[in-house]
Amino acid sequence: MPNSNLIEKTEKLVIIGSGPAGWTAAIYAARANLAPLVLAGDGLTRDRMPGGQLMFTTEVENFPGFEHGIDGQKMMAVMQQQAERFGTRVSNHFVTRVDFSVRPFKIWHINELSGDDEQLTEAHAVIISTGASANYLGLESERKFENNGVSACAVCDGALPRFRNAPLVVVGGGDSACEEATYLTKFASKVHLVHRRDELRASKIMAERTLKNPKLVPVWNSTVDEVLGTDADGVTGVRIKNLKTNQTHTIEARGMFAAIGHTPNTKFLNGQVQLNEKGYIVLPDGFRSMTSVEGVFAAGDVADSVYRQAITAAGMGCKAAIDAERHLAENGVH
Ligand SMILES: Cc1cc2nc3c(=O)[nH]c(=O)nc-3n(C[C@H](O)[C@H](O)[C@H](O)COP(=O)(O)OP(=O)(O)OC[C@H]3O[C@@H](n4cnc5c(N)ncnc54)[C@H](O)[C@@H]3O)c2cc1C
Repeated sequence: MPNSNLIEKTEKLVIIGSGPAGWTAAIYAARANLAPLVLAGDGLTRDRMPGGQLMFTTEVENFPGFEHGIDGQKMMAVMQQQAERFGTRVSNHFVTRVDFSVRPFKIWHINELSGDDEQLTEAHAVIISTGASANYLGLESERKFENNGVSACAVCDGALPRFRNAPLVVVGGGDSACEEATYLTKFASKVHLVHRRDELRASKIMAERTLKNPKLVPVWNSTVDEVLGTDADGVTGVRIKNLKTNQTHTIEARGMFAAIGHTPNTKFLNGQVQLNEKGYIVLPDGFRSMTSVEGVFAAGDVADSVYRQAITAAGMGCKAAIDAERHLAENGVH
């Protein structure tokens, strides 16, 4: 039986999530002698993976400091080691719920993979860096070709050699699908924008600009039925299903980008921190990392629906650690 009442001790700072935002916050907080505890996720599902979203990508080419790029998993392992070197403690646990109405804050966490009992940790300050998971279509063939032609991030992957001068498919019809598709026209020979309806959901100005792009071909009332390819070549095409006629046809493509939104990982907060209409954490100051709850800070994609890059997440992690350290000092916790 889970023993939720077991309180080991009150932590100065708990960091929830272990992507670039969480590890950067941990590096800064540990160097400020806060000995932070990182609850890194338990790995039960993709959105609970210690290391975060970059654990699912091969090459990261745009993080400064790595002239020739770095493997996503390696980058996250090095960030963790850097955080641990200065005294960060790490637990591969997933936070199930919190109580931010009391001081110290209460955080319940569990490892469902190893079957650990639920534990309760108290903390004087908390940094939330739980990310926002990219939504995928959910096809088996899509998962099979991930990193081999399937992506969910045009800014991250668009410039990779396999996508250059090649036909590509983007799935989605909102603002971010238009942004992704337009961005990809810089590299691709042609971008097929596959959308379920007969007009884009994006804002009028964005939709008009997108459809005027000569490299963009809209594919209306349609969905991707199957991603086609081989182990050796990766994606070679997609099978499209017309939702009105149920007929299928194949589009030749070297890549497929899912642009059907992100899900911020904020469910465990149960409304205790102010969220925007899409579920992202609101930072009332905008520039700083404070949330609507004093002593609770947020960093990375969980509070950023615009940029969603490793470097921006890391930058926000740095800010959150500095803000948390100052908050703790002002409250006599050193
Ligand atoms: C296919 C793909 C390729 C990408 N490639 C690049 C690239 O080349 N360059 C680039 O800059 N960006 C890239 N990105 C974007 C980048 O991955 C994200 O911007 C970045 O990982 C965000 O960092 P984060 O720390 O905010 O969140 P994440 O990396 O998403 O980490 C979130 C962390 O929170 C944990 N977590 C979630 N919920 C809980 C909970 N309740 N309790 C405990 N832990 C929890 C997760 O396990 C995870 O450790 C890519 C994204 C995708 C999808």
